[in-house]
Amino acid sequence: MPHHDSLARERQLAASTVLRSGRRSLSIIVPVRNEADGLESFFARLIPVLAGLDLVWEVIVVDDGSEDGSLALLRRLASAEPRIRVLVLARSFGKDAALTAGFDFATGDGVLPMDADLQDPPELLPELVAAWRSGADVVNAVRRARPGDDVLVRWCAAAFYQVMTRVLRVRLAAEVGDFRLLDRRVVAAVGAMREQNRFLKGLVSWPGFATVEVGYVRPGRTRGRSAWSWWRLWNFALDGIVGHSSAPLRIWLYVGLLVSSLAFGWGGWLVVRKLAWGADVPGYTSLMASILFLGGLQLIALGLMGEYIGRMHAETKGRPLYVVGELVGLDASLPTPMASAATPTIP
Ligand code: UDP
Ligand code: MG
Repeated sequence: MPHHDSLARERQLAASTVLRSGRRSLSIIVPVRNEADGLESFFARLIPVLAGLDLVWEVIVVDDGSEDGSLALLRRLASAEPRIRVLVLARSFGKDAALTAGFDFATGDGVLPMDADLQDPPELLPELVAAWRSGADVVNAVRRARPGDDVLVRWCAAAFYQVMTRVLRVRLAAEVGDFRLLDRRVVAAVGAMREQNRFLKGLVSWPGFATVEVGYVRPGRTRGRSAWSWWRLWNFALDGIVGHSSAPLRIWLYVGLLVSSLAFGWGGWLVVRKLAWGADVPGYTSLMASILFLGGLQLIALGLMGEYIGRMHAETKGRPLYVVGELVGLDASLPTPMASAATPTIP
């Protein structure tokens, strides 16, 4: 597979006409929620890597409602290194909203989201930047191995990507998280999509920019435990599917057609049987089974419609995706007028 990947990548790069030697600046976006113990070691590893790149850089840390002293630490880090900027959200809006806020305020030619827990190794940056500069719009960091993940989770993730790409035709890169380098124009396209359901993987792949992959081994967490419970993973999958495809609604047309044609057939047979052989009282089991089966199907269909209606409800309210509490070292005239109309800043 690696061989095949690198061939595909070379071909894609050769086909690219835009060479990005003019791309000079990079914005790193770091969403942070309660990461006080890890932030110093994170920057201790990140800054030397950035210094070694031939780029102007900034790090925009988006504080997503931390309650553990992360903010005080960030202020200290930002006053020592002005290229570290802090965007403080008014409360916790979740990682995807935090990343969106970071995108809105990023000024770099390239934008690179990174987790603060060092699961996205900074040492991969030179390789990502090199691929971007040779013409890719999206450089995905692909996990080649995930030590510590259990087999069942991996199997479910694989099934999810199969369904998304094969059945629903939503192009998604498997084994890619939010760790990737996005060119300015991709960030602009993603930023223009102000939908509440921020399934970023889907938003990034939707415009269809030239994408290449760089492999890496994702280390396990050094401390704490992942908040990715089964319930959250299930909701993540549901957001991905419902947010990017209306195919699940259409299924019910066919289920309905199938069930009703079977019902007509069977009903017809029952009538014929009754006319030919007279009344036949027993039938409790089949009666119950079909009532429960149909009732169940109807509830599933209703619930599914509810998923879509709930999302329409969220969208029609047109609320901002996040609210800014405070800006440290960032330009308050950003984000762009379109985005700022949707993102009021608390003075
Ligand atoms: N994070 C955030 N808001 C949240 C949850 C997480 O900003 O509501 C940040 C967190 O501080 C970290 C990154 O998002 O920098 C990834 O979080 P985590 O490590 O918990 O996710 P995982 O690695 O398990 O996907
Ligand atoms: Mg993590």
